[in-house]
Amino acid sequence: MKYKSCHLIEHGISINVDCIQACCLSRDFNKGQLLIMPKFENNKIDWEHLFFVKRNHRTHQKNGRDLPACEGCYNLREEDWDNDDYISYINFDHWSQCNSNCIYCDVQRNKPKAKNNVLNAVKELIKQKKFRNSGEITFQGGEPTVLKEFDELLKLFIKQGSRIRVHSSGILFSRAIREGLKQGAVTVVISPDSADKQTYKTVKRVDKSDKVWENIKHYRKNLPVGLASNVKVKYIIIPGINDTFEEITLFLNRLKEYDIKSAIVDVEYTYANKNTGNVSPHVYILMDYIEHFCLENNMSYDLYDSALYADRNRNYEKTTDFSTENLKNEISKYKNQNLSLNIQYSL
Ligand code: SF4
Ligand code: SF4
Repeated sequence: MKYKSCHLIEHGISINVDCIQACCLSRDFNKGQLLIMPKFENNKIDWEHLFFVKRNHRTHQKNGRDLPACEGCYNLREEDWDNDDYISYINFDHWSQCNSNCIYCDVQRNKPKAKNNVLNAVKELIKQKKFRNSGEITFQGGEPTVLKEFDELLKLFIKQGSRIRVHSSGILFSRAIREGLKQGAVTVVISPDSADKQTYKTVKRVDKSDKVWENIKHYRKNLPVGLASNVKVKYIIIPGINDTFEEITLFLNRLKEYDIKSAIVDVEYTYANKNTGNVSPHVYILMDYIEHFCLENNMSYDLYDSALYADRNRNYEKTTDFSTENLKNEISKYKNQNLSLNIQYSL
């Protein structure tokens, strides 16, 4: 049946520390997220009930009314959706331990400490033949490599033939990730947010810059050209902290030196949310600069959620002059003018 919906309303779950949602998008402070089960405890998932709730969500969309949590989401699209009960997108977000301590971290700030285990529940889903590998598995966290059941979960989904994306701090090197990369099943995303040791320390509040870049290098090492872009290195632009021409140039040169083929850009979430429609032009110039560099160097370039929303509400035209002089001038001109950069982090 044709109606407006999204792949995650239809066949997605995001397993959180204490609840199960349809997705993990944090795009608007006010709209909340699409809840499927308000409680997740005892490491058990009642799949029958979960599919019941998901059917209700779909009926809502079929009736032509967007679910309140989904209104205005860029993922909504008109399509001929199937009517089967199955899960093909799982976001694992059910633990909060991490070996980093990023200043922008929602996990550190808001999530209760938890040591949930989902392995058995997931095995049950597969046993009931309610999992299809047509979507994507993502690990968000917390830090996946410190999660006890991580290696087993990863192997389980590799066996299912799934596409898997792991977000890691990069502080620990994971053989399971490396193996998944070699098989072409896994994409790893690491966000050092700087190639400068001191800036890294300011952002992450741990002194692990060298270790992280060394691990990025190891994940990339010996991967064939066709799989190279499965090692993705992310830069979260944090106004007032790593938003200079020099910082970005250092980062981009490091990507080139390590033969990284894929860059991801995001804008710090609280800043992007508080300044919707009023993001400082220098943030756009920095984004344009990274995109231009990637195009010039045959690298893929992607935007994550907050950057995507900032880009859609763009109030500054696309940069066309990428000379060093122009970039430096324009960035410092706006950076020094924009008072909305005074964000208070909960340090
Ligand atoms: S918020 Fe967006 S991505 Fe999440 S379930 Fe709703 S439409 Fe899908
Ligand atoms: S690596 Fe991720 S989970 Fe860990 S502190 Fe940073 S943002 Fe939070």
